[in-house]
Amino acid sequence: MILYNGHMRTLLEELCSTRNRLGCIIGYLCTNRIKFTLQPYHCGCNVIIGDPDNADFCFCAHYDVVTNSVGANDNTASVVVCLEHAIEGHQNSAVVLFDQEEQLCNGRIEDMGSYVFGMDLKGSPHILVLDVCGIGDTIIGHGDYLPSDVLNHYTPPSDDYALSLNNHKASLISVLPEDQLDSHMIWRELHTVYDTPDKIQDSTMLMMVDWIYTLILSSKEIHEDQKT
Ligand SMILES: [Zn+2]
Repeated sequence: MILYNGHMRTLLEELCSTRNRLGCIIGYLCTNRIKFTLQPYHCGCNVIIGDPDNADFCFCAHYDVVTNSVGANDNTASVVVCLEHAIEGHQNSAVVLFDQEEQLCNGRIEDMGSYVFGMDLKGSPHILVLDVCGIGDTIIGHGDYLPSDVLNHYTPPSDDYALSLNNHKASLISVLPEDQLDSHMIWRELHTVYDTPDKIQDSTMLMMVDWIYTLILSSKEIHEDQKT
């Protein structure tokens, strides 16, 4: 059961109004007493919550944005969803927030936070990359592990691609309004000044937090069944 009291909206707006997004995330984690580690590298810094090497699931989202946009849907809403999941705390899942998905400092894939994380990852959790999960009611995606309630649907490559270069199985998860599955209309606002927090739907963020919760719970039940 997810309790909602508006703190997700507050965090969304805080992240969208600062240039120091990493500092904002660290402050939020400290305030909520969530343990985390930083993975700094030559041109960025990932945030790791939990133990991805020993987790069944790893939920990821890039927290950087393009310079001309506050990036509410791409990808702050997904970051907020992942942080909400982290606050609830689940032993068999980890959260990783990637740097440098949008603006590669040297224009190389090796500079992506997800690539750096993938190089270092020893375990093999189901990696679910959340990107553009702030508007709509239909969960779409593609990749190596697609839960049955996700509509298999094309989405442009993201951190899942950089992870696959290090032989990790990853899936990309997004959300669209059902009536835009063909037109992808809202994607036209991504990377522009129009991708703002007022467009983000609280119901979509809540749906995604619930979806993660249900996915983890159902996998635990499957594990339990296999034991008996
Ligand atoms: Zn993105």
